[in-house]
Amino acid sequence: MATLDSLKRALRQKAQATASSPKQPLSDTQYSDGFDTLVQGSGWMTYQDFIIPQLSELVASLFNSRIHISVLEIGPGPKSVLGYLPHHLRRKVKRYTAFERNGLFGTRLEEWLCSTSETESPLPCLERPPDIRRIPFVLEDNIGSGTGASYDDEKYDIILFCHSMYGMKPKHRFIERALEMLVERPQGGMMVVFHRDGALHLDGLVCHRMASFPTGVVRVADDDEVLDCFAPFIAGFVMRDVDADKALRVEQRKVCRALGRHEEAHPDHLLFSAPEVVVAFTQHAAALPELTAQVPVVKGDMTVKNREARLRRPASIIRPTEVRHVQQCVQWALKHGVGLTVVGGGHSGHCLWPNVVSVDMGAFDQVHILTVGEHGGDSGSGSGSGSLVVAEAGCKTGDIVRKTIAAGVTVPLGARPSVGAGLWLQGGIGHLARLHGLACDAIVGAVVVSVNTGQVLCVGRVPSQHRPAGAVRPENEADLLWAMKGAGTNFGIVVSVTFKASAAPTYLTRDWVVPLGDNLEARLRLSDFDKLVAGKLPRNCSADAYLYWDAGQLRLGVTMFESCTTGLAVAASTSTPVGAIWGPEDDSKAVDGVGLFEAEMYVSGMHGGHGGSKTSSFKRCLFLKGIGEANLVDRLVAAVETRSSPLCYLHLLQGGGAVNDIAAGATAFGCRDWDFACVITGVWPRDQDGTEAARSTVRWVYNVARDLLSLSSGVYGADLGPDPRDATLAAKAFGPNRPRLARLKRSLDPHNVLAYTCPLPKALMEQKLIILVTGESCAGKDYCADIWVSVFIGCTHKSLTARVVSISDAAKREYAAATGADLSRLLGDRAYKEQHRPALTAFFQEQVRQRPRLPEEHFLNVVRSAVDVDVLLITGMRDEAPVAAFSHLVPDSRLLEVHVQASGQTRRIRRGDHGGDDDSNDNNKDSNNSRSNLTALDHCPSLIFDNDTAGDDAAKRFAEYSLLPFFHEDLQELANMARPVPDFPCPGIEFRHVLGISQQPGGLALCTSLLQTHFTGDWAKVDVVACCEAGGLVYASALASRVDVPLVLIREAGKLPPPTISVIKPPSHISSLASNDSKEKRIEMERDVVPRGASVVVLDDVLATGETLCAVLRLLDEAGISAEDVSIMAVAEFPVHRGRELLRRRGFGRINIQSLLVFGGA
Ligand SMILES: Cc1cc2nc3c(=O)[nH]c(=O)nc-3n(C[C@H](O)[C@H](O)[C@H](O)COP(=O)(O)OP(=O)(O)OC[C@H]3O[C@@H](n4cnc5c(N)ncnc54)[C@H](O)[C@@H]3O)c2cc1C
Repeated sequence: MATLDSLKRALRQKAQATASSPKQPLSDTQYSDGFDTLVQGSGWMTYQDFIIPQLSELVASLFNSRIHISVLEIGPGPKSVLGYLPHHLRRKVKRYTAFERNGLFGTRLEEWLCSTSETESPLPCLERPPDIRRIPFVLEDNIGSGTGASYDDEKYDIILFCHSMYGMKPKHRFIERALEMLVERPQGGMMVVFHRDGALHLDGLVCHRMASFPTGVVRVADDDEVLDCFAPFIAGFVMRDVDADKALRVEQRKVCRALGRHEEAHPDHLLFSAPEVVVAFTQHAAALPELTAQVPVVKGDMTVKNREARLRRPASIIRPTEVRHVQQCVQWALKHGVGLTVVGGGHSGHCLWPNVVSVDMGAFDQVHILTVGEHGGDSGSGSGSGSLVVAEAGCKTGDIVRKTIAAGVTVPLGARPSVGAGLWLQGGIGHLARLHGLACDAIVGAVVVSVNTGQVLCVGRVPSQHRPAGAVRPENEADLLWAMKGAGTNFGIVVSVTFKASAAPTYLTRDWVVPLGDNLEARLRLSDFDKLVAGKLPRNCSADAYLYWDAGQLRLGVTMFESCTTGLAVAASTSTPVGAIWGPEDDSKAVDGVGLFEAEMYVSGMHGGHGGSKTSSFKRCLFLKGIGEANLVDRLVAAVETRSSPLCYLHLLQGGGAVNDIAAGATAFGCRDWDFACVITGVWPRDQDGTEAARSTVRWVYNVARDLLSLSSGVYGADLGPDPRDATLAAKAFGPNRPRLARLKRSLDPHNVLAYTCPLPKALMEQKLIILVTGESCAGKDYCADIWVSVFIGCTHKSLTARVVSISDAAKREYAAATGADLSRLLGDRAYKEQHRPALTAFFQEQVRQRPRLPEEHFLNVVRSAVDVDVLLITGMRDEAPVAAFSHLVPDSRLLEVHVQASGQTRRIRRGDHGGDDDSNDNNKDSNNSRSNLTALDHCPSLIFDNDTAGDDAAKRFAEYSLLPFFHEDLQELANMARPVPDFPCPGIEFRHVLGISQQPGGLALCTSLLQTHFTGDWAKVDVVACCEAGGLVYASALASRVDVPLVLIREAGKLPPPTISVIKPPSHISSLASNDSKEKRIEMERDVVPRGASVVVLDDVLATGETLCAVLRLLDEAGISAEDVSIMAVAEFPVHRGRELLRRRGFGRINIQSLLVFGGA
């Protein structure tokens, strides 16, 4: 399948060859028609599957950090991509400007952005009409030409370049120009470019993030009329002369048909490959010179082994020669918010990435072998006599093997000498694996530059002479060492690794090649190989198998490796299980570790040898058991039969033995239970790099991997990267260790500096907890917060991280800066703080008067400063109803207010006892023994803790019974049952099917049991459970029956028998999005069904805008039920819609609201 770029070249060549008349640009209509053919059908899929999700992810934190967002879009076409972002993001866009040179598009865009009586604008909260300029966006130099205007005063939070920057040359100049238009404060803006891959060269610019979508395709109807629109659009011009243009179109149709691919499923369409990239820049895009002035740079091109990586143009390749240089790279990346890649042996596709700085560790190429006396450790019981090998991160497998065997020891590594650190950090499967384990299992220590702080860290055993000056032991040393063993490319830049050594063996290798006539024979031979050969081998032997096609026939190649540390034994070893069934070997060799590199069958035996470096390859590796089983054999054979190039093959490397001795959770390499690692190897001649032949071979590898995945017992994480096709494979890598790895990624690489390595899951707990600890002065808030942190951290089976932060520190800082007060005393000296309290309060109030959003800013700053913890406890809040006020700012987190209260007497005693606990407002200072302040609050905290008893027992119990349950697996399971449904009920909305929980096996029972246990009141005191149709009804009836309380139904007017009472209900959030159901309705209930003064729990499935619940509360009010007697429970809450705030505004703020689940989406 040709790419759109190669089609463009071919169309242009055809025009050059056939038409002599001058060319002219497309008219607006021609451009518009061509554009429509491109985005219709599968072209839209690229938006849906890639561009929109990527954009949503990229801009989410920027949007969340701002109250308002201003956008400039350059060349949006007839619709803005922003219109497809989640609703909560779109609502933030207050200013929208577009440069759309095509007048037709400009008009369509304007119409689309305007709301009508029936439809809401996709950007519903614009403060003024969209500013659509029907002119091109031009460089400053052109302003004098009359085509542009001065943009000097214009600044935007987001700038988008859409549709491959059509018509803009040179592209980097336009990007640089637009970068000047990004806002700089409080946090810089972001520019995002969507572009077809292959043609975007932005040398010297460093991107914030970059993602690619290699599988994008465009499907065009194979129809003369359609192709006549499509071809000139792709070529970028038409002929001025009408006849010449007609003639050219006939020729261009032929070009399209020759290059486009026909698919069986769509015989009337032509398919073109349209790989796409999304590149995001910030104002740091030009920061490269700052780094290159400090560290050594690779001049000219650097050839890495991997062919995909070789085709990429990194921003720069740094070649550190000292550890300090690596630190400088990290510090620079952290300062500018950009990612880094690392080059080890250069064999993966992720060591170089476009517009990203790459750190080539090649200069760290020393191998040190230390005997017991030299490293001072114990002699160990292994065969390597306790020696250690310190290998620097630029060493290749061959360097280590060569140097160590000269000293009589070795490290279990892989099969190719040129492979680098990526191998031992991610696993490392070799011929000693069955005897000594994987390469990563031999790691006992490492020196790593932290990508969180830039510090040099020593973990595990690092002989003193190899510890860099200033290296420190990190707090989470054990975690980091664990992660290094199998997922070590994700957490820091490794400078060196310490391996425990084994005695160097010699090897006897023997090869057999067996032709396979048909599937039946393949099943038989592979079954024999698995059971009679591999299954019978002792640990010092391993057998590899190859399935390949050669000389017109499917073949099974087998190599047996026998290792021995006494040369004599090798010579004496003659009989083998293979020989017993297949006769004498075709070839045999006795070699040492270096000679072994050349003894691999694929290097010299298959297809005339793959070792001559005239081929390129692409591999993915899955772990298999039972390779002789018929269904597996059939798939393996089918894989080879459907190979896209004659040189493709499957390589099965034997595991078991020592690999399996180690528990899955003992190292990060969690896939241990397998007999064979199946390397799906796509190979093509090197001169076909970058062509369709190479692309189709990569597709073959992914297709085979997908086909084998369900039969596999895991996936090798090495070489999996940001390619979306790797995501399903990565989900099966690391076995049970993924949650722990996700947590470590978040704490060790919180800024995602190593963004282009194996994709780890985003976060273990989708529902991060933020607890606002409020309460009266000296009630013991700080004391309790500290105890609760210790309970979270001490909960070993959850391995949670938690921290307390005081929000009032920011105000104190600002106060100190403005008044000259002593900040450290304000923060730490209680008496001094008391002395300044009135002035501080007045100062803060004045600041809030001038900057009403200041509390939100402080809150967000505190949250952002602690993204690395699971539980954040915030003290010092001064705001009324903080959950209602702030939860929309952290829509992915569960926000709770825990109000600590104590009697006046206790507080008076404490005022003398322990300090540091009084940042709440002074109005609460009490003079009596009551805890009357709760009634003084005009809102209801989520939870209340009575802190009257001395000691920490009560606080601990409270945390265990009331806080830890938010991390119970059942809640996570319930969350997983609320299936996300993209683009429902309209594009851009990610709908959570909360009601669908009841359709899942066990869903209703789980949900009602959680509702029962999470209720903070006493069910015995509840008189009725009320609910409004339809969602609430399902859960409420099950809950009412479970807690044995009568149910009260609230229905649409007209469905209940009289007498009834009714109120108006605006449409719910989702109904309002579905255009056919956007009108106000009445809801009603039977008049006397709730006894006056009854205690009522109102249950709804969803709390979004809060309109439905408000209507229900008004109805209950009509029925004589006061808000004091009502509690609200919701199965799921969507804080972005600020439902709690609405309830509070409507006078229901003192009602307790509990939601089982919290979702960030719309
Ligand atoms: C020809 C060939 C043979 C192979 N044979 C085997 C084999 O026998 N056994 C086996 O298990 N695997 C084998 N592999 C897979 C191999 O382990 C992976 O391709 C591995 O990622 C290559 O590592 P590298 O250092 O050469 O590549 P690179 O591309 O340089 O690095 C791979 C990854 O590691 C990261 N990385 C490298 N150095 C560091 C560092 N110092 N700190 C942090 N991150 C770092 C890179 O950023 C990249 O993400 C083979 C691959 C090929 C192409």
